[in-house]
Amino acid sequence: MAADQVFAGRDARLPAGRWDVLVVGAGIYGLPVAFFLARHHRARVLVIEDNTIPGECITVNTGGIIRIAYSDLDVVRVAGFAREIYRNPTARLGVARPVHLGFVPTRWGRFVNEDAVPGILAEVTRIARGTGGRLRVVPMADYVQALPPARRATLGRIMDLDDCTHVLVDDDGGFCDGGTALTGLYEACLDAGVCFSLYSSVREFVREGGRITGVVLERWSRRGEAREIVARETVSADRIVLAGGRGNGALVRRAAGWEMPTFTSFHQVPFIRNSPDNDFAQTRYRVGPPGAGRRFETDVEMIDAPTISHWRDVYFRPEGSGLIFGTHHHLLQDDDYEPAGGTIDGVRVGLDQVMIDTLLEVMPHFPALASQGVNLGRTPADIAGGAYYMNPEELPFEGEVPGTGGTVFYAGSGCGTGFKLGPGVAWLLVERLAGVPPADRLIASPALSAERATYFYPPGTSREELLRQFRPVAEGGRLVDMGAAGIAVARG
Ligand SMILES: Cc1cc2nc3c(=O)[nH]c(=O)nc-3n(C[C@H](O)[C@H](O)[C@H](O)COP(=O)(O)OP(=O)(O)OC[C@H]3O[C@@H](n4cnc5c(N)ncnc54)[C@H](O)[C@@H]3O)c2cc1C
Repeated sequence: MAADQVFAGRDARLPAGRWDVLVVGAGIYGLPVAFFLARHHRARVLVIEDNTIPGECITVNTGGIIRIAYSDLDVVRVAGFAREIYRNPTARLGVARPVHLGFVPTRWGRFVNEDAVPGILAEVTRIARGTGGRLRVVPMADYVQALPPARRATLGRIMDLDDCTHVLVDDDGGFCDGGTALTGLYEACLDAGVCFSLYSSVREFVREGGRITGVVLERWSRRGEAREIVARETVSADRIVLAGGRGNGALVRRAAGWEMPTFTSFHQVPFIRNSPDNDFAQTRYRVGPPGAGRRFETDVEMIDAPTISHWRDVYFRPEGSGLIFGTHHHLLQDDDYEPAGGTIDGVRVGLDQVMIDTLLEVMPHFPALASQGVNLGRTPADIAGGAYYMNPEELPFEGEVPGTGGTVFYAGSGCGTGFKLGPGVAWLLVERLAGVPPADRLIASPALSAERATYFYPPGTSREELLRQFRPVAEGGRLVDMGAAGIAVARG
């Protein structure tokens, strides 16, 4: 019963006793970790969330693009595992009551240009072969020709169709609404017996000898604009998983004193309205838990366009009758950075300057970006967005936090691609916690684990040393510029 599983406020009393696992953070890493542990390992799990679910987290404002294409074929496998969950959650999670993670089957395409980026055609062909036929590469002219007329016309209003030579097509791709995904996973967790302490912030870690054995949480309520601490509680557990999004760096520092090369890079996802000059065609998509009866499935009417990943580092995905779009950059900011807005022709707008500069640069290739429908906003609050929580390889990871006696673990740092991989990375962490040997895990390589690189730096490491990791390899760093698409022309 949810009433015995969800705790918030001054009078909340958590069940007594030691937990098997505490999960800090109820985003797209924390919730699947909690679910898999409770469902597959019968663990007694408490999720501690600073807000509600879905709250003010990164996942709520994600672009939510779901695809499986990556240059690393092991990452493809993990993305494929996660995508099955997004597409068919009730069956894949094995829950009694139907859940919906907000998947909309728009299809997806990576639009590339072999003339501008020599070698990219060979790379996307290699990826398509590596997926065993789940993806295919199509010459742009053939792709456009095969589209139904309405979708073809809309695509031409979004982008210059002559600006690409080929498309890596994913017919099972699309996007999810982040808030819906969290709501569905929350319901699945309740179904599996997971408990939740909401409006509860982990403030300190409890140490016994060399081991971390628990946390101190503060439960809060809002008093006017301020937070008022209404309860303080110590909770013990055998294991603790840090899945706090951009709070994770501070949590690692507090738990172990160690530093991480992970930084915020704030990204906005402006809306493009279906203004008269866009005149986007609309269509119906079937959404909701399939096989659960028509009561759960429904049709939603939205723009008739695929989810688009473009070689000019711009992406678009359907949102209502229009689109949202994003661009890729890695401006590294403090973890509490909030967007500042920018200026066009001397006028203040809500869009950050880094996006405005990109927008103006790529506009000639994208009619929709020059349309009246683009929302530049008056203040940053007018434009949805969130923090890419960056690391130098631009891929999320899971692993053990050193200096905690083997009790504290990490999941996250999804950069611009952490949503589609979240449930898969969570599964890898749960395999680790369950003692599955690396060779027998979903993937044997450390492509999505802390072992792929140095992740935890000893106490005293300076910010400059950590930032240095984001320089290209030739300059002594380890940045491999994958972009949000996770596809790069193979080197060497
Ligand atoms: C604008 C934007 C677009 C994106 N687009 C895509 C995309 O199209 N496809 C894709 O795959 N990925 C995308 N991403 C990336 C993806 O959304 C993120 O990697 C992912 O959602 C991060 O999830 P998380 O669980 O790590 O963090 P969050 O969702 O932020 O969850 C962490 C939770 O931890 C809680 N917390 C933090 N500290 C504490 C504490 N001390 N105590 C208790 N609780 C705490 C927070 O309140 C929060 O609820 C995008 C990201 C952004 C910002």
